[in-house]
Amino acid sequence: MTDDLQAIVDRIHAKLQSRLGEGKVADYIPQLAHVDPRKFGMAVVTVDGKVNSAGDCAEPFSIQSVSKVFTLTLALGKHGETTWNRVGREPSGSPFNSIVQLEQEAGKPRNPFINAGAIAVSDLVLAGHTPREAIGEILRFVRYLADDETIAIDPSVAKSEEATGYRNFALANFMRSFNKLSHPVEHVLGVYFHHCAISMTCTQLARAGLFLAANGRNPMTGHTVVSSQRARRINALMLTCGHYDGSGEFAYRVGLPGKSGVGGGIMAVAPGRASMAVWSPGLNQNGNSLVGSLALEMLADETGWSVFGH
Ligand code: GLN
Repeated sequence: MTDDLQAIVDRIHAKLQSRLGEGKVADYIPQLAHVDPRKFGMAVVTVDGKVNSAGDCAEPFSIQSVSKVFTLTLALGKHGETTWNRVGREPSGSPFNSIVQLEQEAGKPRNPFINAGAIAVSDLVLAGHTPREAIGEILRFVRYLADDETIAIDPSVAKSEEATGYRNFALANFMRSFNKLSHPVEHVLGVYFHHCAISMTCTQLARAGLFLAANGRNPMTGHTVVSSQRARRINALMLTCGHYDGSGEFAYRVGLPGKSGVGGGIMAVAPGRASMAVWSPGLNQNGNSLVGSLALEMLADETGWSVFGH
């Protein structure tokens, strides 16, 4: 079936042309509001290393919350299971930037993929480092995962978010008030905004996720990134929490572990088969790429890759 994969990707790309521009580009981060809403890229990398791609797959975009998978992986590597003392593992059923739940749960965020949870994870990555070192460590880790030294942070996006990230400051201050952050709010958010501002292409992002599709080992580089148990567990979190209050719908329609970002990117994993990334900036009401979700739904349908069966 994977022999036909390029044809499938090309077909999906062609079919969705009429839908480009649908959805709403995130404009609460001023720098993201400038992105052309008709961009659309796809890349699928199989565990045997073949790359199938279409459209704007070689154009870097702001990965935003997709980066939360990489910072969680780093935090787990540094702190192991004690990571879970700081952040939960349950779907939130709330928007990605919700504050309400955090008060009810005394400053312990529901999961590592909502903003509050990812801010707590940034605090963990920061342990023993200056913010600059922690940002460097995250960037090096992403380059290592994707096996690509050209991946960079877009400082204008980080700056733009730092200037307007009122809600994230509110979330972080709130957690700090519950003694749930170990470092100054400015430092933690400096790390958070910079990892959200990493720019990657669909092809780079698909390659970076390959270790999750292959039991923790990147088959293209031979590097063991995490144990197979940890890879499985990160996938479980992506499936249940990776699309915020749209996670149930994504599981229903696509049936793959996936993580979205407000830049319009989604990274998804078909365990044992492939890692994939799509990019289309228009978002649905939950802040997930509208056309990107459709593309993954079509891909899962055509390949039979849903983790729930053919
Ligand atoms: N940097 C963004 C924010 O904090 C990430 C949100 C997202 O991609 N869902 O708002």
